[in-house]
Amino acid sequence: MRTEVARGLAAALPRESLLVEREDLKPYECDGLSAYRETPLAAVIPANEREVAEVLAVARSTRTPVVARGAGTGLSGGALPLADGILVSLAKFNRIVAIDVLGRKARVQPGVTNLRISQHAAPHGLYYAPDPSSQIACSIGGNVAENSGGVHCLKYGLTVHNIFRVRAITSEGDVLEIGSEALDSAGYDLLALATGSEGLLAIILEVTVKLLPKPETAQVVMASFASIESAGEAVAGVIGAGIVPAGLEMMDKLATRAVEEFVHAGYDLDAAAILLAESDGTREEVADETAKMIEVMRACGATDIRCSRDEAERLRFWSGRKAAFPAVGRISPDYYCIDGSIPRAALAPVLRRIEELSAGCGLRCANVFHAGDGNLHPLILYDANVPGELEKTERFAADILEMCIEYGGTITGEHGVGVEKINQMCIQFATPELAQFHAVKAAFDPQGLLNPGKAVPTLHRCAEMGAMRVHAGKLAHPELPRF
Ligand SMILES: Cc1cc2nc3c(=O)[nH]c(=O)nc-3n(C[C@H](O)[C@H](O)[C@H](O)COP(=O)(O)OP(=O)(O)OC[C@H]3O[C@@H](n4cnc5c(N)ncnc54)[C@H](O)[C@@H]3O)c2cc1C
Repeated sequence: MRTEVARGLAAALPRESLLVEREDLKPYECDGLSAYRETPLAAVIPANEREVAEVLAVARSTRTPVVARGAGTGLSGGALPLADGILVSLAKFNRIVAIDVLGRKARVQPGVTNLRISQHAAPHGLYYAPDPSSQIACSIGGNVAENSGGVHCLKYGLTVHNIFRVRAITSEGDVLEIGSEALDSAGYDLLALATGSEGLLAIILEVTVKLLPKPETAQVVMASFASIESAGEAVAGVIGAGIVPAGLEMMDKLATRAVEEFVHAGYDLDAAAILLAESDGTREEVADETAKMIEVMRACGATDIRCSRDEAERLRFWSGRKAAFPAVGRISPDYYCIDGSIPRAALAPVLRRIEELSAGCGLRCANVFHAGDGNLHPLILYDANVPGELEKTERFAADILEMCIEYGGTITGEHGVGVEKINQMCIQFATPELAQFHAVKAAFDPQGLLNPGKAVPTLHRCAEMGAMRVHAGKLAHPELPRF
């Protein structure tokens, strides 16, 4: 380790909070995108704000880059360490500071897991709505940094719609209190800017989240379809009928088969695709909405429809969807999860094209996704030990993301850009837009110390890739309705 960094960190932190030995650094080598790994110069586990500030002072004086890490479940390489950098784990920031039952909010430290907030609020009849499938492990700091979503975000919004305030420290050591508990506040919307900033602007030290009253009841409709197209039509039909389900998810045959063997959720193994659509609210609202969704699904050719009869069955139907990623991990040595968004109208042609690409490159691809908000999660199955397979997977993934842009969508729905989608940023955004991203970064982090090389590509990198940007006015699929 570079001596001045070592000396500075040793002075800033208790001995047990500084890791420098290779075997101690092993657990920090990657996040959920385990195809990419790096050993940091050092990992630190500060216990309070003063220690974070001191680590940042060492980083400033030695010009050492810093990568913040929550639980390391990110899927785009955002928490991937840098070989010449300090990894800052927020694991010790794990306190729920206060719950305001009347105000329906909670102040929590960034290392608190997503699920723990709801568990803590449950005795008060409250919960925190955004529910990534990784919620048992992922941290609220990571959720804010990625603007994470989940099954229930179709109705209740993403992380950005469910937080009031963030307390954060910049690389310059300035502590910022951003956001407000009012519906609007003066000045630029820095809360929205910080949400989804992937650790590039500041280190999050505390988050005030919104809590919602737990719905009286919830029910899931599980519908089978003989083709992806008819399932896609049913998704459009449900939304078109003016219904906003609490969740509207699709899984294709490869995914349901993998999941069923793993968790026995009761999925139809003959269906080309299944939809899981949840309604929540009062008993009357749920009965009415469920009946309407069933009617739409029948009209769109559902071959089988089942409704959860009690809470245990509802959770069983969801258990498969929530365990889909690990289930796919059981049928393949490695998998690569893509995250792109498209307009709902493009679901059928995009899924058909993914099938063609999969056949073309000889890699299987399972689809499990937030169909209601057009957020795709193709899971490419590959074997990293087979020479060339990772590169083939990367090309396949890039083709899918570029297709999302062509169809008027975006390269991320909820997992962020990280290192994974950095090249596609050059395609989605033009030079003046990227220049503004860099200007924002420089305003918060003038030395460029926080998570450099992630999320926003250099203009030089984009120039090297050539003029690849797809212009919004010249999308490749004019046949699709646009608004
Ligand atoms: C099985 C599985 C299922 C998943 N399902 C979903 C899903 O349904 N929806 C979804 O949106 N995501 C999902 N994810 C992705 C991941 O869980 C989320 O992106 C999550 O928000 C990451 O949180 P984390 O604490 O693990 O963050 P990390 O992976 O540690 O970090 C993610 C990013 O946040 C930054 N960061 C972390 N903490 C801070 C902080 N305190 N201050 C500043 N920056 C910080 C890091 O630098 C990095 O850029 C899933 C992942 C897995 C493995």
